[in-house]
Amino acid sequence: MAHDLAVIGAGVVGVSCALWARMRGLSVVLIDPEDPGAGTSSGNAGTIANYGCLPVNDPSVLRGLPGLLFGGDSPLSVSWGHALRNPLWMLRFLANCRAGRSDEIAGALAALLGQADAGLNPLIETAGAEDLIVSRGQLSVWSTAQGAAGATESVARRRALGVEVREVAPDEAREMEPGLMLPITRAVHFPQARHVLDPQGLVRRMHAKFVELGGVSLRARAERVVDSPEGVTVFAGQEIAVGRVVIASGAFSRAIAGSGAESLPLGTERGYHLMFAGEAGRVTRPVGWGEGGFYATPMAAGLRLAGTVEIAALGKQKNRARLAYIARKGREMLGDLPEPTSDWLGFRPTMPDSLPVIGVAPGKDRVIHAFGHQHLGLTLGGITGRIVADLAEGRAPNADIAAYAPGRRYY
Ligand SMILES: Cc1cc2nc3c(=O)[nH]c(=O)nc-3n(C[C@H](O)[C@H](O)[C@H](O)COP(=O)(O)OP(=O)(O)OC[C@H]3O[C@@H](n4cnc5c(N)ncnc54)[C@H](O)[C@@H]3O)c2cc1C
Repeated sequence: MAHDLAVIGAGVVGVSCALWARMRGLSVVLIDPEDPGAGTSSGNAGTIANYGCLPVNDPSVLRGLPGLLFGGDSPLSVSWGHALRNPLWMLRFLANCRAGRSDEIAGALAALLGQADAGLNPLIETAGAEDLIVSRGQLSVWSTAQGAAGATESVARRRALGVEVREVAPDEAREMEPGLMLPITRAVHFPQARHVLDPQGLVRRMHAKFVELGGVSLRARAERVVDSPEGVTVFAGQEIAVGRVVIASGAFSRAIAGSGAESLPLGTERGYHLMFAGEAGRVTRPVGWGEGGFYATPMAAGLRLAGTVEIAALGKQKNRARLAYIARKGREMLGDLPEPTSDWLGFRPTMPDSLPVIGVAPGKDRVIHAFGHQHLGLTLGGITGRIVADLAEGRAPNADIAAYAPGRRYY
């Protein structure tokens, strides 16, 4: 046996799993053809969003469905063709928008988010990455009366699930963030939230620590895994014999043959960002604009406007209309921004119930799934890594993970 554990995928989730397992003393090989954190983990909004327990699955999606399919000027868009090619995924996604299901999902997300810092902080400390983390909370603002009214329900739901939320008067919100140019009808502050100045930089630091601690990092694409009661063979240009394998390849996890992920309803919510180098001073913390559906986050490389949801295919090119939407709304939010210095498309790995998949694959005792973290992978990578390390050691995790089981009902 070459290693106790192979982790396939070096995004924030895979690197967190690898580092946690190495910190526990397991011998680990981490496999990815790309740089650590170069995928979806590089371009996110950078928020450690422990308040993010409300899923996209919400009754309002059902009410607004015609607008989503036929309208263009919305933070959530659905590709017609994609929806028709993936009717089961879409039907399950919509079934999870029913009020009762949405509440169950929120409860399951809140339970995991409640442990997020306990999973992430040891990794930040071990990696010596404290300088990349800023603790100024997150400010959410709404600019219309309708948005402000809608926020009443979401604030109440979060509070009921234990999230600390502070109502902020519009004038105070302007004092907190003088760069905001839009009308503010309502604002709330999540004081426990933090943000990361360089999301890929954080993954790189964790990866460097993993290697320093003796972890093996292999530049290769894993094609398939073959498990038996004795161990697992990973085919990644060479055959690697390991005790267990973790599938942590984000939105691409279904492509790994023999992993059990092929049969799961993993889809993607595409998301975009625009970078504005030299403009980070426009805000002092991540500011989420409710009606706009994106965040403005100050980062080391500049201001990042990141977010929106596009339900469309994995492989398709950037949809320039989505980028134009963010640019236009960004100017409404922050005034006369210059031309963006770069743009980006990323693939959130999303199950139709917006819950991550964390657990042992059905019928495959030595294959562990760790993907599907949708909007919360940066936040939940650490706790996922801790749970996976428990499973890799063959012991029960210190958390109830039934709601995230690969074999659950996806509706
Ligand atoms: C616009 C946007 C904003 C976001 N904002 C936030 C936020 O503020 N806070 C938050 O918590 N989350 C946020 N997210 C979500 C977060 O970025 C993702 O949930 C997270 O990056 C997923 O991490 P991952 O490691 O699962 O996947 P990835 O980062 O995509 O990593 C998967 C890795 O697997 C590798 N891989 C794929 N196939 C193979 C193979 N066959 N063999 C080997 N390796 C393979 C890839 O090369 C890649 O490196 C945001 C996402 C988007 C798109």
